[in-house]
Amino acid sequence: MRAIRRFTVRTVLPPELAPLGELVHNLRWSWHPETLDLFAEVDPATWERVGHDPVALLGAVEASRLRELAADRRFLRRVADAADDLHEYMTAPRWYQTLAEAPRAIAYFSPEYGIAAALPQYSGGLGILAGDHLKAASDLGVPILAVGLLYRHGYFTQSLSPEGWQLEHYPSLDPGGLPLTLLKERDGTPVRVTVSLPEQRPLHAQVWVAQVGRVPLLLLDSDVAENDNAARDVTDRLYGGGTDHRLLQELLLGIGGVRAIRAYCRVGDHPEPEVFHTNEGHAGFLGLERIRELTEARLSFDEALEAVRAGTVFTTHTPVPAGIDRFPAEMIARQFGGDNAWPTVPVERILELGAEDEPGKFNMAAMGMRLAQRVNGVSELHGEVSREMFRGLWPGFDADDIPIGSITNGVHAPTWVGREIMELAGRELPTLVERAQGWEGVNKISDVDVWGIRNRLRARLVNAARERLRRSWLARGASRAELGWIEDALDPNVLTIGFARRVPSYKRLTLMLNDQERLRELLLNPEKPVQIVIAGKAHPADEGGKKLIQQIVRFADSEDVRHRIVFLPDYDMALGQLLVQGCDVWMNNPLRPLEACGTSGMKAALNGGLNLSIRDGWWDEWFDGTNGWAVPTADGVADPDRRDELEAHALYDLIDHEVADRFYDRASDGLPLRWLEMVRHTLTSLGPKVLAGRMLRDYVIGLYAPAAGSARALSADGYEPARHFAAWKLRVHQAWPGVRVEHVEATNLGDTPEVGASLELRAAIALGELQPSDIRVQAAYGLVGQHDEMVGPSYADLTLETEADDGKAVYSGTIPLDRTGSFGYTVRVVPDHPLVATPAELGLIAVPEEPVGMTNGTLR
Ligand SMILES: *Cc1c(COP(=O)(O)O)cnc(C)c1O
Repeated sequence: MRAIRRFTVRTVLPPELAPLGELVHNLRWSWHPETLDLFAEVDPATWERVGHDPVALLGAVEASRLRELAADRRFLRRVADAADDLHEYMTAPRWYQTLAEAPRAIAYFSPEYGIAAALPQYSGGLGILAGDHLKAASDLGVPILAVGLLYRHGYFTQSLSPEGWQLEHYPSLDPGGLPLTLLKERDGTPVRVTVSLPEQRPLHAQVWVAQVGRVPLLLLDSDVAENDNAARDVTDRLYGGGTDHRLLQELLLGIGGVRAIRAYCRVGDHPEPEVFHTNEGHAGFLGLERIRELTEARLSFDEALEAVRAGTVFTTHTPVPAGIDRFPAEMIARQFGGDNAWPTVPVERILELGAEDEPGKFNMAAMGMRLAQRVNGVSELHGEVSREMFRGLWPGFDADDIPIGSITNGVHAPTWVGREIMELAGRELPTLVERAQGWEGVNKISDVDVWGIRNRLRARLVNAARERLRRSWLARGASRAELGWIEDALDPNVLTIGFARRVPSYKRLTLMLNDQERLRELLLNPEKPVQIVIAGKAHPADEGGKKLIQQIVRFADSEDVRHRIVFLPDYDMALGQLLVQGCDVWMNNPLRPLEACGTSGMKAALNGGLNLSIRDGWWDEWFDGTNGWAVPTADGVADPDRRDELEAHALYDLIDHEVADRFYDRASDGLPLRWLEMVRHTLTSLGPKVLAGRMLRDYVIGLYAPAAGSARALSADGYEPARHFAAWKLRVHQAWPGVRVEHVEATNLGDTPEVGASLELRAAIALGELQPSDIRVQAAYGLVGQHDEMVGPSYADLTLETEADDGKAVYSGTIPLDRTGSFGYTVRVVPDHPLVATPAELGLIAVPEEPVGMTNGTLR
């Protein structure tokens, strides 16, 4: 018989142990080893059995053991110390508290969060990044309030069939068995959030709060009694189900999420967020909900749009077109129109926000960009690729002007760095992780210590991998007697390469199999063998990805190599930690430039692992020639098979002649000195950059604080500035067809211009109905390419010289001839107002009809 419902009966802790309950319910334990030590001490055997899950520990430990601990003075003192430490962590002023004018609170939205393996609410990089963002925010005192969904079956756990085919299992999660508390009204009744659906079907949700250090994470859960069965299943799985299901999840996340925030702030008297940060398109409906709030408070749609945009930050996380979230427009029309329309928010305006090239499609990324005044990608290269990819939203502008910036991702060191390293760092370099300075101190640590730790971490991985391999083989139907070989699978002294990631095709899981004989030789080389540890999940609907996993598994099953290459099922945070800590080399071979950033290689670097990667995402930015290896990319080669072949052979050659040679080049005392030199260089050059703390500071200074500034400016005096700004935009849009660059002349361009000289420009501009104060006239100048296109131009503002009554004005200014070579200039007009964040904000531009001002002569 199967139970129809399952729930967890919580342990009642003896009053003396109450602080232990508090420690369990703050997820800070997920990056605080001392607290984990304390949990282990409650009952070491049970702690191992429950897989280091503190809530499960308290549920499983015998009452008699709890009574014993309640009388153990020494244990009680340790609990009290840990609780004091947590209180201090929760309240002491941190970096953020030193800032002036910073936002009172920031709302952060993501469809997934990777906080700890015991809270499986993530599928991959986006979720892990969101988790690291919250943890770093907590460490720095950044007042983030995060919102997501609670998936009752989380993301699947992976195992393998005897044939090596991926099998998926969905755990049944009971919130009572997770470190969560239900959000309640002041009178003790649970908070309810409701989103209305067409045909008077309401979708209700309750709200769970996960406390991530100082940061509360609100998780909406539709599994409540008032919902019918279909509605209860809306939050069943992460990225499961079809388009309808996804839309319902996104409505709940975006609209319900804002309502959950309002309830949380009302109930607990917390400050309302001034900035809303939305990650990927999935939470985009939050902007519509905020527009609704403001329109019901008497702003027009356009005024509300300006007020909302000012305080919204949108981060795009993928350049893969299939990763962009789109819906049929008629689904959106049905949701926001007809009997379900919001009276103050016209459905046509909503449809415009998500319009894209293909008619009939509603594009969540396009809406994200239209609803946010500030937009960014997640590495410099990804910013560049995104400017190109979304260029169509700003017609007439060069890719360089597309207002999408970038902040490169980072990783939360205390979560990912091996404890041995943290402790060594703590001893030698107390501030290493908190601040970006002090990494040169790595050079003070002796070679023997560094190599000793690397050996320990590798040995730990080898042991854990054998254990996981044994479990996997037993699950695949092998008998214990057949598995003797596993005792010697992998070798704690062999160069270990890690490769773990989700399995979309662009990540090319099987590139290493391109030439199987060559790979065999590398693995079995008697002088300088290599071993490879692989992990990764394919999306349940991705048959192609599952085939790739099967190819890898089949190769790894071969008797001649199975001791040197293993596939470990169920890549999750726990396995991720083992791998990034234990591997000597972290390999990554995406199809450039489809990896937006990638973060696993950063985790490896912080552990003294060396990166061996295609120059994509973060590695394109921070590879410096000697802090790892760049696999040459053949991204100009059109034939994909040929490209794979070229890149795979480059990879084999690097492993053979560079990586392995260096690893096995030993001094007389057995130390690989040249290897250790590279490890040190990796730590000192990458350490300060790859930290999530650096990322958070960049977000606060570069985006959150300016967004709060804009939002405050627009909402002052009962939103008067928002009214003016919206009216100004409307006026400028209507008048823009009358704006023209009529004539441009350079007054002192001699026959042979020389570098260091300057050029006087005069431009005659037709203003139409606009005033000079509505526009900005700029000279663009710099090098030009073969087709007279300007390459990364500089801009100089021209100033108003004369204004005639007929709507014409003359602007002038000086530009420096600061570069030799083919130099060119032109003039552009863009709208200008103190509240615009970038010249491309309105998407309006006027340039001369005929290109002007090319100096065909070459500057000397
Ligand atoms: C870090 C991490 C990821 C993301 O890594 P990428 O380099 O972006 O592929 C995915 N899954 C887990 C479990 C991780 O720890």
